[in-house]
Amino acid sequence: MRYSQLFPKTKRDAPKDAVAANHKLLVRGGYIDQLMAGSWTLLPLGWRVVAKITQIIREEMNATGAQEMLMPLLHPKEVWEETGRWESAAEVMYQLDNFGLAFTHEEVVLDLVRKHLESYLDLPIKIYHFSTKFRNEARATGGILRGREFLMKDLYSLHASEEDFWKYYEEVKQAYLKIFKRVGLDVIVTEAAGGVFTGNHTHEFQVAASSGEDVIYVDPKTGTGINKEIFAGEEKDYKKVQAIEVGNIFSFGTYYSEKMGVDFTDKDGTKKPVWFGSYGIGQTRLMGAIVEIFHDDKGIIWPGSVAPFKYHLVGLNGKGEDVYKKLGDDVLFDDRDVSAGEKFADADLLGCPIRLVVSDKTGDKIEAKRRDSEAIKLIDIASLLD
Ligand code: ATP
Ligand code: MG
Repeated sequence: MRYSQLFPKTKRDAPKDAVAANHKLLVRGGYIDQLMAGSWTLLPLGWRVVAKITQIIREEMNATGAQEMLMPLLHPKEVWEETGRWESAAEVMYQLDNFGLAFTHEEVVLDLVRKHLESYLDLPIKIYHFSTKFRNEARATGGILRGREFLMKDLYSLHASEEDFWKYYEEVKQAYLKIFKRVGLDVIVTEAAGGVFTGNHTHEFQVAASSGEDVIYVDPKTGTGINKEIFAGEEKDYKKVQAIEVGNIFSFGTYYSEKMGVDFTDKDGTKKPVWFGSYGIGQTRLMGAIVEIFHDDKGIIWPGSVAPFKYHLVGLNGKGEDVYKKLGDDVLFDDRDVSAGEKFADADLLGCPIRLVVSDKTGDKIEAKRRDSEAIKLIDIASLLD
């Protein structure tokens, strides 16, 4: 990609109301743009990052045997009335007369499954999608961390027995740990309340960050946490940490399936309600959380797995075309006619893992520098391509 062609360009100043690093840096870098509170456009660079995050999640979900699909966002009031959540979740759900906007999909999944489920032979079912969620958030602040409209991967699993359910729940927990590791984050598995979803405890995946809105108590012996909202221990035995919730998994037992009449015929011929769970990761929040962790005073420092481009190629004195053509697609080429200082500042702000410079001074070599280090190396194109 030629930087001269990219929409839009970087901005010198952060929005006046921006406090969180992700808000300042993603807006200045031209990754995201705010339409109104809690409502963001993912610009071409931001969309590339989210696409990489999405692909990592997809690979790990598929590895658990889950199947990707896509469900509607405009939901009929009737299915939400079946569980009572049309009323109990009215604060979070945007509601029209006879429709509601998706803030999650449990009811829609159960309505779907009951049309297709007959016997234990049809189970387990593991289905997921990536789509928009709408939530009437009282305080949509913190940049892209809290949207009124945001992207989420939500997986739903249905099982014939409690045993099979918990086995898969554990498998998803492990898949989540792999996902967060692949995007460069250390997460703390945290026990938490279930909000408008369930009276059962749930597991959240929390990333320690001073900008986080959650407070968790971490047990130094196990490294696991308990969310402040359900914490009943002795404060002195735990480490109190501020954190960002990046994922959450839920066990519902047969609560929702009984309410919605989602039964199957078991081996012994009797009808039973299915065991049900759901599993969410917000891709856009995840992008914001990564920036909260990986930045310095100059800009973003993307982990390689989610960077919009691996290389940021700075061409000086009209140089760089040859190298650009050899490097393939994973390179952002700053081919503009502006000062070296401006180009270097933009490379630091945008945060691609490796900065390359080609100029009159570098001759037939290329100057290479990692975004997270000060060391500069002179290398030739052949060893770079290696
Ligand atoms: P929070 O407590 O932060 O409001 P939540 O517990 O209500 O979040 P869940 O219903 O557990 O959120 O949603 C699953 C995942 O979706 C979260 O772990 C987070 O990654 C993401 N998410 C939830 N709400 C938002 C939001 N308003 N903006 C962006 N991502 C969100
Ligand atoms: Mg949650």
